[in-house]
Amino acid sequence: MDYLEVEGARGFVARLDHGGDWRAQIEAFAADEGVRSAFFIGLGAVQDAEIYFYDQDDREYDAVEFDEPLEMAACLGNVSDLEGEPFAHTHAVLSREDGSTVAGHLNRATVFAGELYVRTFDVPLERAHDETTDLDLWPL
Ligand code: ZN
Repeated sequence: MDYLEVEGARGFVARLDHGGDWRAQIEAFAADEGVRSAFFIGLGAVQDAEIYFYDQDDREYDAVEFDEPLEMAACLGNVSDLEGEPFAHTHAVLSREDGSTVAGHLNRATVFAGELYVRTFDVPLERAHDETTDLDLWPL
């Protein structure tokens, strides 16, 4: 395991815009505030969602679309640079009216309502291609 000591720099609470994209709004916020590394948690509701599942054999993301209202029961993620731009690596647990859930790597979702807590760190993090997984990971 590689690791890096970080200290919390700034904290934010945010309300996501109705009708906007969940992940894109986090990335726009990071760009506006110059955030180069952060973790975040969030909750709320979305009008639809696209979840990715990483196929470890094929080394590709498979997308699954959900075109229905869903509760954002839990969202967590981090922000770091990917090819010079903020990337919000976002995972979500989404629930339906009957309480059943879908979950995974959130590519996009149209916000109905959303609340975030963001903690930024004092060091920049930049993703780089990892040969073992074929993913863009942190070279710590
Ligand atoms: Zn992921």
